[in-house]
Amino acid sequence: MAEVLVVVEASSQGGVKKVTLEMLTLARALGGDVSAVVLGGSADALTEKLGEYGATKIYAAGGADLDEYLVAPKATVLAALIQRVSPSAVLLASSQEGKEIAARVAVKLDNGILTDVVDLDPSGTATQMVFAGSTIVKSKVTKGLPLVTVRPNSLTPAPAPATPAVEALEVAVEDRDKLAKVVERKVEAKGARPELAEASVVVSGGRGVGSADNFKLVEELADLLGGAVGASRAAVDSGFYPHQFQVGQTGKTVSPQLYVALGISGAIQHRAGMQTSKTIVAVNKDPEAPIFELADFGVVGDLFKVVPQAAEEIRKR
Ligand code: FAD
Repeated sequence: MAEVLVVVEASSQGGVKKVTLEMLTLARALGGDVSAVVLGGSADALTEKLGEYGATKIYAAGGADLDEYLVAPKATVLAALIQRVSPSAVLLASSQEGKEIAARVAVKLDNGILTDVVDLDPSGTATQMVFAGSTIVKSKVTKGLPLVTVRPNSLTPAPAPATPAVEALEVAVEDRDKLAKVVERKVEAKGARPELAEASVVVSGGRGVGSADNFKLVEELADLLGGAVGASRAAVDSGFYPHQFQVGQTGKTVSPQLYVALGISGAIQHRAGMQTSKTIVAVNKDPEAPIFELADFGVVGDLFKVVPQAAEEIRKR
């Protein structure tokens, strides 16, 4: 049986993102061998982790052309690999980069593409989130192989130890892949909190938090729960919290075990980014707030009273 290719999403700290482990787990369920594809950087530090989650082969493509020229050369290398090995499916992360590589590969190979997939069965039928996550559909690529991008936090990664063989890939990119170049790269310092899109607990604040200073309360609860901090667009637009922490249609999509919404009304655009969270807890002083339609647990009350009480209780345990 043909292999399944999983394009590795590396983290800025040099490891692999959790979504990569989810994709390896999903790939194993499709049948056949699972091969990881590392596009850019070095595969050396990733080999052990990829093997731990069942990669039996690693295709490693590195060098300046891949690291300096954004995604176009990566798409060229991946398209060439697909043509060479004819995999049964190709999985990429539903991240900005993953989607762009997948789209470019789809055009190059005249192949169908499905994005924001949360499940894929061995027949190639995908469960896909569309319309900003408000609708779930079953879909299938009708031309070419299943080329899908997988939404982070869609499934639980399960280890299946293997010892991968590493094959270095020939990188032959064309001049037209070099039309835009990276001129500076800033690696975010790793803070104590988990990354928002990958966190199993997210505590988000909305306009109801009232100020940037008050967001310390949101951070405090997040830290007590070992979670990440998120924010609604209204909170971001008001300057309470930086944009990279926005959750929603035009922000990040999260799907944690626990999502705590503090002073967030629950607009459709916010729900689009968090409604697949496993347990949703909302604190809002308005009993009619739409967030309560979605919440598993709701507290009608002033967050400035409720959150310190909750924090005190958590500290005792
Ligand atoms: P509000 O709607 O103003 O709600 C504040 C809530 O706080 C209220 O329910 C209030 O009762 C409660 N509150 C106030 N004080 C307290 C208190 N002391 N204690 C407890 N509760 C209190 N929004 C996003 O979040 N993410 C997106 O990605 C996004 N993308 C968008 C894209 C488009 C194209 C558009 C048009 C809109 C988008 N929005 C997005 C905006 C969205 O429509 C809402 O305006 C926004 O989500 C509202 O944020 P909020 O809930 O924090 O503010």
